[in-house]
Amino acid sequence: MQTSFTSLQLQNPEIAVANDILRTCVHCGFCTATCPTFVTLGDELDSPRGRIYLIKDMLENNRPAGEEEVLHIDRCLSCLSCMTTCPSGVNYMHLVDHARVHINETYKRPILDRLLREVLALILPYPKRMRVALGLAGLAKPFAFLLPGNSMFIKRLRAMLNLAPAKMPAAQSLGGTVHKPVGEIKGRVALLAGCAQQAIGPSINNATIELLNRLGIEVVIPEAAGCCGALVHHMGRHEEALAAARKNIAAWSAPDLDAVIVNTSGCGTVLKDYGFLLRNDPMAAQAAAISAKSLDISEYLLKIYQPSAAAPDIIVAYHAACSLQHGQQITTAPKTLLRKAGFTVVEPKDSHLCCGSAGTYNILQPDIAASLRRRKLDTLKAKSPDVIAAGNIGCLTQLAGDGIPTVHMVELLNWMAGGAKPAAMEMMQ
Ligand code: SF4
Ligand code: SF4
Repeated sequence: MQTSFTSLQLQNPEIAVANDILRTCVHCGFCTATCPTFVTLGDELDSPRGRIYLIKDMLENNRPAGEEEVLHIDRCLSCLSCMTTCPSGVNYMHLVDHARVHINETYKRPILDRLLREVLALILPYPKRMRVALGLAGLAKPFAFLLPGNSMFIKRLRAMLNLAPAKMPAAQSLGGTVHKPVGEIKGRVALLAGCAQQAIGPSINNATIELLNRLGIEVVIPEAAGCCGALVHHMGRHEEALAAARKNIAAWSAPDLDAVIVNTSGCGTVLKDYGFLLRNDPMAAQAAAISAKSLDISEYLLKIYQPSAAAPDIIVAYHAACSLQHGQQITTAPKTLLRKAGFTVVEPKDSHLCCGSAGTYNILQPDIAASLRRRKLDTLKAKSPDVIAAGNIGCLTQLAGDGIPTVHMVELLNWMAGGAKPAAMEMMQ
């Protein structure tokens, strides 16, 4: 694609990167067929190619974001299915990240939208605040039907209330803990405990730590490490995302760590991009080293996992989180591990399509998210599974509550290595 940035504009390193990305796109449109928002809405401007044109026009003309760009870029899930499909290697992720920062800096959103985003940025990255918010949402949930009208703000409020679990799990605070295996220590890793995950899915971290310990791996969770920054990064809040990244990089830079393990693939994609995000920062070298050390739990387990029991006759529908399959190009490791544990693994039709979770997307774009959820659940249930497994807390929350238990794949692997049966499956025969 031809671009027409001026030489002055190209002196800005961010614009120079955007220019390089734009020039690799050959407008072929292959990406449109695998884009969930194009498949759902059928509008070229809700396809990767359409968004690329909008971003190009906005950046080349060096103008503030307008309503049209904001509408269509906000609707993008950042699922990165387009990057898997693109034959030209267009780095859509870095382009849309740049566009989101531009929007955040140049566009004044309506007051309620701004307020909601402020609240999300103030609560979601902090597990304790999130627990309080979810507790309050749980109390308000039975009265959600009283919310008047069907404006976007009200729909977003309803979507937030719907995220409150029926029963809050026990509080988890893993910062500053070290978990040693019994016997010989074969390795030492840091675990990203996650923010939302500590609040709503503590059993995932527990299973991860237990399993790693069983396999002889010491697990360290530094006090100073916190949210990976993805939640604010995807809202275009660049400086907040960089601050979160710097804190984590400093916390994980101990030389004796073999890897930084991530069991929330949405966070893993961002960790693996720290090197790029901080490429012009004094911490650039450390950031690149942490990105190189960051591994999804499935990647790390692939070489060392050993089940200790034969799995019961259970059909596991594996839902591939976008951040894992598109963001990190990890497609086979989780299924290989589940099969090694003895489960029968099935996959839904159109497994490349997003479930609609996508960080805060299911709150900010409730209609599209609900439609993608329904589609994903229908294709999963068509395989008659006993349980749905994924590698990302966001997907598990999005797909929960429709009659089939949802569990993190590491909970199933830990079960077959001698751990407890995942609580979500306790009701099953
Ligand atoms: S598939 Fe790649 S090259 Fe083709 S239009 Fe989409 S982004 Fe551009
Ligand atoms: S990231 Fe996903 S939703 Fe966004 S343009 Fe690409 S395929 Fe479409």
